[in-house]
Amino acid sequence: MKFDLLIVGEGLASLVMLLHLPASLKIGVISRNKRPEEISSYLAQGGISAVFSAEDNFEKHVQDTLVAGDGLCNEEAVRKIIGEGTNVLNWLIELGVPFTCTPGSNEIHLTHEGGHSERRVAHVEDMTGRGIMQTLQSKVAQLPNVVWIRQHEVLEIISDGSTIGGVITENLDDKKVAVFHASNVVLAAGGLTGLYQYATNSHASKGEAIAIAWRAGARVENLEFVQFHPTAFQFENQVISLISEAVRGEGGHLYNIKGERFMPKYSSQEELAPRDIVSRAIYSEMQIHNATNVWLDITHQGEKFVTEHFPNLVELTGTYGSNLATRKVPVSPAAHYTCGGVASDVAGRTNIEGLYVIGEIANCGLHGANRLASNSLLECVVMGKLCAETVREKIYLFSKNSIKIPAFIKTRFQGNLLSELRSILWSHAGIVRSNDGIKLGLKKLSSLRNGKSSLLSYAESLRSRNIYDAAYLLLHSAALRKESRGGHFNINYQTKWKKSRSTIIEGKLALYSQNKANDETIDRKYMA
Ligand SMILES: Cc1cc2nc3c(=O)[nH]c(=O)nc-3n(C[C@H](O)[C@H](O)[C@H](O)COP(=O)(O)OP(=O)(O)OC[C@H]3O[C@@H](n4cnc5c(N)ncnc54)[C@H](O)[C@@H]3O)c2cc1C
Repeated sequence: MKFDLLIVGEGLASLVMLLHLPASLKIGVISRNKRPEEISSYLAQGGISAVFSAEDNFEKHVQDTLVAGDGLCNEEAVRKIIGEGTNVLNWLIELGVPFTCTPGSNEIHLTHEGGHSERRVAHVEDMTGRGIMQTLQSKVAQLPNVVWIRQHEVLEIISDGSTIGGVITENLDDKKVAVFHASNVVLAAGGLTGLYQYATNSHASKGEAIAIAWRAGARVENLEFVQFHPTAFQFENQVISLISEAVRGEGGHLYNIKGERFMPKYSSQEELAPRDIVSRAIYSEMQIHNATNVWLDITHQGEKFVTEHFPNLVELTGTYGSNLATRKVPVSPAAHYTCGGVASDVAGRTNIEGLYVIGEIANCGLHGANRLASNSLLECVVMGKLCAETVREKIYLFSKNSIKIPAFIKTRFQGNLLSELRSILWSHAGIVRSNDGIKLGLKKLSSLRNGKSSLLSYAESLRSRNIYDAAYLLLHSAALRKESRGGHFNINYQTKWKKSRSTIIEGKLALYSQNKANDETIDRKYMA
């Protein structure tokens, strides 16, 4: 099937882009999620940041973002995206997103989150993502020029290294492999936190699309900067759900298992310090006391206040025998957000003509070494809009020359690859890293190759290679950064480089052509 434009993913960045594209384009949207609750955009709790109060201003939001990004933001990108904040919020309000208002008024209620010097986070109760996504889903469902290709996983981009020919997918129902053609492909496929053993969304993207873009020749940057959310709610040592930062914003305190409030010891901003500082403090307290969790307590604000502010979190914790409104709840850090990604500008352009990345997959320079809370939903909306405007201006015409179906891969992987990778990344590219740990992680990765497991199907082999490559890119980036900065903390480098710079891994297509040993042969019997 041939399209003018293919978009991979149906999260927030994708839906916003769809709403800004002309009806004249034939668009295919490919996504693999079975349920909306698997999409990170749907799960966002805290809110979307924007300058919206009289006390706040553009410059303050810019400065907070730059401070969180720890020297690695692209200031031009920051100014562009933050500058759109007020318009974005007004646009979402006009579309009908039911943002929570201050009791007794029709003014949008703004909450406070870590790293923000002002209240500037608009929210829909404590389930902002669901509120925004449901509103946008009802709008895009009416678009006549969009073909929804659901339950399909994109396994590879067809590229000759400079132009795009389409994507290869597997239908997750009948396992058939299909090819969809287009010379304009937008990856709106999220990040890689699903590759970690503990994550705030374990269904989330596992970096496959980052690996796919990289193999198509796209540049990858700063992938070592993974943000760990300090407070994931635990039950029986498993992460159940995120507990929004807004709980600390509204006065919640953290206690170790001895009952001591510890954040004042680690930061003058206490519980509202940037996420990496809070996560490391929790990690340290868990190590000191040999504990698997710390406690989050907001009960001093009173049951009525907590239930009014966090109705869904009170209900959720209640399901597991805790109750946020009346009891302290067990929390620990979990992988949450991919700050780096495929290198792009704010409109999602990559170094490959016709290949775009928007939302969490992209490294457009907004987050630098660490993301300021609630800036990511804003980034999705702005990038989705700007990318649509760019594509509208220039649609690359389809050419048969750009079709090069990727080959069957002979590599075998050992054991249950995903669970091995999750364990390796948690242990060796986690909250606290070390040179030996990263080196060991890379060694463990190479020992997973060429295992004795049986030869995989075409789709399985591509899928395995995607998650393997994503884990490799992350560990490799961590090895390149010989300093501690933002979300990357290495005990062997306690100081920062004098001049901040990005870790860059060039697209693999170039590497393949340099190294013939990696050449692969096509085995079409695996194509449906
Ligand atoms: C629990 C949680 C709470 C959060 N809270 C907030 C918050 O309050 N504020 C904030 O700003 N940010 C928050 N974030 C981060 C924010 O939600 C995400 O960064 C953002 O929603 C990402 O949107 P996206 O459109 O880039 O991708 P996603 O929403 O991740 O969507 C990715 C889409 O791509 C599809 N996909 C991926 N790979 C493939 C493939 N190979 N083939 C086919 N389809 C594929 C997925 O199925 C999905 O449809 C939170 C994240 C989580 C997990």
